[in-house]
Amino acid sequence: MENNNFSHATLCVQGGYTPQAGQSRIAPVVQSTTYRYDDIWHLQRVMTLQATGYKYSRTGNPTVTAFEESVRLLEGGAAAVATASGQAANLLALVNICRNGDHILAASTLYGGSFSLLNTTLPKFGITTTFFDPEAPLEDIAKLVQPRTRLIFAETIGNPGLNILDFDKIRALSQEYDLPVVIDNTLASPVLCNPLQLGAHIVTHSASKYIDGHGTSVGGIVVDGGNYNWDNGRYPDFTQPDPSYAGVSYTEKFPQAPFAYKARAHILRDFGACLAPQNAFLFNVGIDTLQLRMERHGNNARKLAVFLQNHPQVAWVRYPGLDEVGKERIARYFRADNGSGVLTFGVRGGLETIDRFVRHLQLATLVVHVGDARTSVLHPASTTHAQLSEEQLCAAGVLPEMVRISVGIEDADDIINDIAQALERSK
Ligand SMILES: *Cc1c(COP(=O)(O)O)cnc(C)c1O
Repeated sequence: MENNNFSHATLCVQGGYTPQAGQSRIAPVVQSTTYRYDDIWHLQRVMTLQATGYKYSRTGNPTVTAFEESVRLLEGGAAAVATASGQAANLLALVNICRNGDHILAASTLYGGSFSLLNTTLPKFGITTTFFDPEAPLEDIAKLVQPRTRLIFAETIGNPGLNILDFDKIRALSQEYDLPVVIDNTLASPVLCNPLQLGAHIVTHSASKYIDGHGTSVGGIVVDGGNYNWDNGRYPDFTQPDPSYAGVSYTEKFPQAPFAYKARAHILRDFGACLAPQNAFLFNVGIDTLQLRMERHGNNARKLAVFLQNHPQVAWVRYPGLDEVGKERIARYFRADNGSGVLTFGVRGGLETIDRFVRHLQLATLVVHVGDARTSVLHPASTTHAQLSEEQLCAAGVLPEMVRISVGIEDADDIINDIAQALERSK
């Protein structure tokens, strides 16, 4: 479906796959590692990127293509590459741009896995990161730019700090230093926010969350906006000939989306973290209802947030749009009035109270997950963010008393009643 004038609600259901006469109505699972060709010359052209075509499912598969197309349309990008997980998506995006000796400027309010990738693992490969407070003034963040800085990385909604990014500030920084912006849009989902329209150049998702929506599969995706000019002398891997593909220069050969073509041909081929067709199929089914689910997640979460705000055992509540700054940013950057389904709150009484609260939940369950149709709770300080120091916890917006709820699409009153009775019994 090539009509980009369709709304997101329509693209969710119809985008990504258009059958020809006699073909299956929905994108089938093409459970095949490989693809047949008639002559060696045709396959040679495919292998050397002179012709398009599937060769081996590590670098492309028809079911995966339908998923990539669907998210590409929703994000308004030029091309997309699916990956085995959200972690693999962020890794792919970062190492597709950076090489040994390069530097990344990243928001301090990041998902725990992204923080450890940037803080611990990538430095072992010579790629270093300076973390910045996304609420700091532009001049302060700009002071952190180094000669080898190659990209800016942040999340639309910080997980689990739930701060909405000031896209205008990041765009100004990007323009001043001519740096590409990579945005992890997982918590907003492509129906609530489209960072490529707000100054970003690359968007990543953990598809395991809202895109799947049913807790069935781990996967990820990277969308190339096709809107960054890599031919500025600082990204030779994009402009110079790639010897492993008969001397292809990605900017010359694929000017509409050099980032995505290089990510697939080079990084996905060599690192191998590709998405399985079965998981792509489940994501395609999930996306059908993404718009509907996000509306429900947002409405339920807002109701629960308002309830918790007035609860004597609750010290504070965070939900995008409850405070003035968040409200203003949602109005400016989001396609909807609400945040997603994720909210956090502080429980009075310490760890033992939090444990009792979790034990008494009947509808919500304790799981390391967000974006599920089922309401989920987590205590980040003792789990996903347990490896962080106290200072790093503060910078990431993770307080010791903080409980995160990923509000599902069940009945709002049932969710509120469950949280209320568990709080009561946790006293
Ligand atoms: C979950 C998550 C990831 C990692 O994704 P996986 O699919 O679990 O590998 C990355 N970023 C954010 C914001 C996430 O919530």
